[in-house]
Amino acid sequence: MAAESPFARARSRRSAIVTGAAGFVGSHLVDRLLAEGFDVVGTDNLMTGDLANLEAAGRDPHFRFHRHDVREPLDLPADVVFNFACPASPAHYQLDPHATLTTSVLGALRLVEMARKRECMLVHASTSEVYGDAAVHPQTESYWGNVNPTGMRACYDEGKRCAETLLTDARRVWGIDARLVRIFNTYGPRMALNDGRVVSNFIVQALEGEPLTVFGDGAQTRSFCFVDDLVEGIWRLFQLEDVPDPVNLGNPSELSVAELARRVLELTGSSSRIDHRPMPPDDPRNRRPDISRVRALCDFEPRVELTEGLKRTIQDIRARMPRGTEVRARP
Ligand code: NAD
Ligand code: UDP
Repeated sequence: MAAESPFARARSRRSAIVTGAAGFVGSHLVDRLLAEGFDVVGTDNLMTGDLANLEAAGRDPHFRFHRHDVREPLDLPADVVFNFACPASPAHYQLDPHATLTTSVLGALRLVEMARKRECMLVHASTSEVYGDAAVHPQTESYWGNVNPTGMRACYDEGKRCAETLLTDARRVWGIDARLVRIFNTYGPRMALNDGRVVSNFIVQALEGEPLTVFGDGAQTRSFCFVDDLVEGIWRLFQLEDVPDPVNLGNPSELSVAELARRVLELTGSSSRIDHRPMPPDDPRNRRPDISRVRALCDFEPRVELTEGLKRTIQDIRARMPRGTEVRARP
């Protein structure tokens, strides 16, 4: 049998668009899709993203970057669009709440328009924030949430909730294969140094020898998932025949913010002190995903334990810190 021509091989590759490709999660997803043999177009408006995150992808002939705001129409050929465009850190998404809400809602609307025309699948990055300050613990997908619609977090939470509605109706009415992944707190290499979320904040502060800013008494909890585990879960959900209902994705191992601060100090060897700051309004008190659904659907299990994930994140952040900022060792 004659060998397959490079041209035929090229045409047999599947194609993906990743919106928010220059961001923390989006860039890891781009790398995974390229490794899986996809042609990938990454789009981003670079609001919080950084092209440095796409350095490796940029060397791959199967990757192309397209500067684009997800609120504007998009019309490119693709088998699947992974919609990861949206600022995700409270510090960032509250800077321009209008941009945050419209990015979620108009972004989803534009991609539905494209999916109707191009008949492509949509995999949407939703969030545990749809549960708000949850009254149910751990959070199951059947819980409808407890969100303050006029609070500081509403631009993000309600935007994401509305996008879920839009995409679910697009599935019901037009038969679009839209998949909702409710992502819980994820961390890892490539988080922006000024991201403002707790893991990167604590690591940067510890490495600079600055106080770790613990909001409130630090008793609030989160459950942190390493980015490689998250991407594996997204990949598995994408490969399923269908995913008709929203799916939680994260690591159910839960700890308090105060305990996280202690672990970061230990792993960095930093002598930084703890500085308690006022608790931001509507900050969810406890968060832990119930991941029974994703386990049953695709045998997903997070593999990277917090200590290992933090070590890898610390190593990455340390390498990106401006020269001269060295960890101040414990006396
Ligand atoms: P991030 O801020 O690092 O990445 C978001 C990316 O979207 C950035 O590159 C940014 O420039 C881009 N973007 C923002 N607005 C845009 C717009 N209007 N048009 C085009 N691009 C735009 O955040 P992340 O942690 O990588 O989050 C990625 C996605 O995952 C987001 O949709 C977020 O809501 C979701 N998510 C993340 C987490 C997490 O813990 N990392 C948790 C829940 C949900
Ligand atoms: N937090 C903190 N110090 C910081 C940043 C965040 O104590 O410098 C707390 C925040 O109040 C919340 C938790 O850490 O309870 C997680 O915050 P993050 O912004 O990472 O994500 P969230 O889950 O709140 O969206």
